[in-house]
Amino acid sequence: MVPFFKRRQQLSVLTLGDPRLRGTAQPIETLDDRLQRLIDNLMWTAEKTNGVGIAAPQVGEPLRLFIVASYPNLRYPHAPRMEPTAMINPRIIAHSDEQVAGWEGCLSVPDQRGQVDRWQTVEVEYGDRRGNLHRQVFTDFVARIFQHELDHLEGTVFVDHVADPGTLLTEADYFAQMDSLPAIAEPPDAQ
Ligand code: ZN
Repeated sequence: MVPFFKRRQQLSVLTLGDPRLRGTAQPIETLDDRLQRLIDNLMWTAEKTNGVGIAAPQVGEPLRLFIVASYPNLRYPHAPRMEPTAMINPRIIAHSDEQVAGWEGCLSVPDQRGQVDRWQTVEVEYGDRRGNLHRQVFTDFVARIFQHELDHLEGTVFVDHVADPGTLLTEADYFAQMDSLPAIAEPPDAQ
């Protein structure tokens, strides 16, 4: 039997208006038990809420840590299915010239979807929960998750990036209109 203190907990997610979503998160210096437990709980919370990513500040922990947990979904049927990955002190080293528009939602902005421009490809660096440093290139959906989560570490939420507030939709409208919405809009400079 799993001891009580090892049980994973679903954490409550802060929503827009909470000032803790607007702070700058601090670098992580030690991979202690408390951090490992936070990682387990964040992964569990993402799974229970069908999130493809979640950042520590969203549960009131001002630390440079997020989870990326891509899987194929209706909007991105070709999104890679990856093991939920904890990324510690993540950063972007380089990015493509092109940005692409795509739909985003956020556990901290319930019931809203909006179109946001993101770099199509990013080269990133992050530490894993065992202390190994990784350098990886992410494209499209995973690159979008990474940029969305990285924003949370700087106190930024996707609605801050919505260029045209007219694209903001409730989830109900989003799913109702989904068939007629472009999955990924053409970049502004597309020929
Ligand atoms: Zn978010």
